Amino acid sequence: MLTRRSLVKAGVAGVAAMPAVVRAAPAAEEPAPRPLRIAHLTDIHVQPERESAAGLASCFAHVQSLADRGAAAADLIVTGGDTIMDCMEADDARTKTQWDLWRKVKADACSLEVRSVVGNHDVWGWTKARAKTTGTEPLYGKKWACEQFGRALPYESFDRGGWHIVLLDSVYPHADGYIGRLDDAQWDWLDKDLAAVPATTPVILVSHIPILSVHPLASTTAAHPGTDGKPSFALSGGLVHVDHPRFQELFARRPNVKACLSGHLHVVERVEFGGMTYLCNGAVSAGWWKGLHRGTDFGYAVVDLHRDGTVDCRYVTYGWTAKG
Ligand SMILES: [Zn+2]
Repeated sequence: MLTRRSLVKAGVAGVAAMPAVVRAAPAAEEPAPRPLRIAHLTDIHVQPERESAAGLASCFAHVQSLADRGAAAADLIVTGGDTIMDCMEADDARTKTQWDLWRKVKADACSLEVRSVVGNHDVWGWTKARAKTTGTEPLYGKKWACEQFGRALPYESFDRGGWHIVLLDSVYPHADGYIGRLDDAQWDWLDKDLAAVPATTPVILVSHIPILSVHPLASTTAAHPGTDGKPSFALSGGLVHVDHPRFQELFARRPNVKACLSGHLHVVERVEFGGMTYLCNGAVSAGWWKGLHRGTDFGYAVVDLHRDGTVDCRYVTYGWTAKG
């Protein structure tokens, strides 16, 4: 006859035998593929002032120490434009100083692959009087940034981790400055580029200027007082893409485009419109290294791109505070 003690022993033995069976089951299944992780660092605005080089180095260190995936903290860094403080209005010497600083911090503090979007402040000399440019310089306009980023054109695309990633050039010349739109050659390129992507491959677009945002609407009366003193409700083409309707037509034809990342506004924003997700991801420099901008802290976005086309995006701060 079994005693209570021997029953417990038998039970323990039974439980002890269980793990071998439990462990065997998952081995028969494929492990879920890890999502592709992009660290989206936008609006860095590196400059010799305000200890911004140390700030950027600490941001790179933070990306490389993201702890939730072991050593593979991120697969890729994408910088979202406005890499340097400004060269649209800067002369040759000041522009060189800023790009040299960018390259040095990247070489010293970053071991991950970096791909870069061109921002308006990365375009050299379009404001000719202030930049003392003529337009005939070999590195005029976007050529200097392209040289820094190691490519011929200010836009590109590539495949990674089951995704197709498109880096767009938002900066279109207008008067002495710019508005947000693609030029005709880039539209032609984008149409062909996406046509060559299998319909089952998810796509993400990265632009400097948001393709769509509600932020300019929310701030328009404060940002753009009318000349007669009354508020103006006109939106600035320098704040959002003026060719958004054409993007919407494109997205209707290409449902594998899943999300659009941007910067430029130095705010964190998520807009869902017409089936598309638009994510504006703050600024590494917050308020141009002087402090917060409209409540947005020094930070960057961790973007996880899953194989099924879903996108997880979270804005993380890296612990910097304004200096000087
Ligand atoms: Zn900026």
